[in-house]
Amino acid sequence: MAGKDVMPVGVFTSIGAGLGAGIEAVKEMGVPTVQVHAPPPELRTEEHAESVKKQFAEAGIQITLVFCGFPGESYESIPIVRDTVGLVPEDTRDERIEQAREIADFAAALGAPGIGIHIGFVPEQTDSPQFAEIVGVLKGLCEYCKALELAVHLETGQETADALLALLQQVGRDNLGVNFDPANMILYGSGEPIEALRKVGHLVKSVHCKDATWAAKPGEEWGAEVPLGQGDVGMDSFLRTLAEIGYDGPLTIEREIPEDPERQKAEIGQGVQLLNDLKAKIL
Ligand code: MG
Repeated sequence: MAGKDVMPVGVFTSIGAGLGAGIEAVKEMGVPTVQVHAPPPELRTEEHAESVKKQFAEAGIQITLVFCGFPGESYESIPIVRDTVGLVPEDTRDERIEQAREIADFAAALGAPGIGIHIGFVPEQTDSPQFAEIVGVLKGLCEYCKALELAVHLETGQETADALLALLQQVGRDNLGVNFDPANMILYGSGEPIEALRKVGHLVKSVHCKDATWAAKPGEEWGAEVPLGQGDVGMDSFLRTLAEIGYDGPLTIEREIPEDPERQKAEIGQGVQLLNDLKAKIL
């Protein structure tokens, strides 16, 4: 397709948090976009933002999202995620809201268009006071980001497509969208990803290209994360469905193997190849 690079390939990387592939590896992969993990607090300065901005600009790589992460979060098991991840756990909520705002300031200084966040396990009962509290938290964050001209993308995974729709509808802010991660739907056992994508498609502003296989007991135990194209997502139908719903944003590969950076780099490289091949076939 001539003109605009529709669905440019990207990698989820790090600018100081110790995760992801790192800018040197990203340069080697030749991708035009990245999402980045928010750096730790001591690196969320204007100076650091300026230097990161310059590095990526010189490499011709666009930063499409800055992802929030908070100390104390653990993805060890589904119950531990429930207790530790995002803005849902009450003990850490206020301090994390403050940190999310700092990350938004950093994203704005970086010239990124938005922040991404795992909100956590949102209560199932949409008429409960707990649900209303999360709606309030998100409204506040969206308003803060709006003033900085930033979008807020909620990562999918812990909830069903219907629950996510209910949440976004109640928050009702036009800078709130979805970062759709099809593998999370499988890993958490929260629904068939392509069907979910069709339901929330109009709200999808960014995606993670990640693959996984279903657990024997979905929702109780983790599925397994596997290299792109080797799991149950069906990358061909994922891309076809994205095209069908009119999505033209980046395809950001998320593959983190902190214990084996070489394998990580090789698998991301294979993922880039797979996505480019599928794009050539489908778009
Ligand atoms: Mg993800």
